[in-house]
Amino acid sequence: MDFRLRGRKAIVCAASQGLGKSCAMALAHEGVDLVIVARREAVLQQAADDIAATTGTKPRIVAADVTTAEGRRAILQACPDPDILINNAGGPPAGDFRNWEREDWIKALDSNMLAPIELMKATIDGMIARRFGRIVNITSHAVKAPVGMLGLSNGARSGLTGFVAGLARSTASHNVTINNLLPGTFDTDRLKTNLQALANSTKRPVDHVTSEIIAENPTKRFGHPDEFGSTCAFLCSAQAAYMTGQNILIDGGAYPGTF
Ligand code: NAP
Repeated sequence: MDFRLRGRKAIVCAASQGLGKSCAMALAHEGVDLVIVARREAVLQQAADDIAATTGTKPRIVAADVTTAEGRRAILQACPDPDILINNAGGPPAGDFRNWEREDWIKALDSNMLAPIELMKATIDGMIARRFGRIVNITSHAVKAPVGMLGLSNGARSGLTGFVAGLARSTASHNVTINNLLPGTFDTDRLKTNLQALANSTKRPVDHVTSEIIAENPTKRFGHPDEFGSTCAFLCSAQAAYMTGQNILIDGGAYPGTF
């Protein structure tokens, strides 16, 4: 299917590796003009080179921290009028809420709630004026089924989810959609960190914890980041104009509910 995105402009945040990079790769395959963002410039440049070699579309890079006003200014300077915005950042650390101070909560909120809201605020009116906009927020399966040790993520991302539920309805008539993509267990560095945290907290070897989670998943495997990127590209497509305000879980069927 041609997603009719050729020549559209996109900002993809936190895109030097993992899920963000897979979204950038899938959009580059569709001929989207990309600005990709992450903090470490060398890793980001490598990602841009990989995307260019694979797709023939060379992204521009902005080495910036999405949680800072300065970082967001640099991103918007490079791409002031995006048609597509993919919000993403690192996930907060695992732990016990008894050990978290206000500062820990503020950091989680900055990464996983407030930075996406600030970037939507800066770009959405232009999308409305041009009558095309696709915003995808990468959140987590933890929004639908909380993960005990990821309390900072459960809390901050739920705040974003609630906010988006209201905003998405107000922009839909202008062909500006906002959806959240909820990854389950995808084979990335973040997953490795979380598996290690789970192994440490349950005092079990990490390979036991890993095999157990794979065995519990209906697909008997972790997700491939490119499967995530393809869904993201579809949500950005012209054809997805009638989908908005949705929380789309991609978890191999791990969530056991009927809905
Ligand atoms: P990852 O492999 O660790 O990649 C994280 C990316 O984010 C890197 O490119 C990193 O580059 C960038 N980044 C982090 N903080 C940033 C910031 N403040 N500003 C700009 N870039 C930033 O993680 P992932 O697995 O792709 O996960 C992406 C998101 O999905 C995370 O929020 C994660 O918690 C969530 N998630 C993932 C899974 C999973 O199974 N993988 C499951 C549920 C939720 P720099 O460090 O160079 O900035």
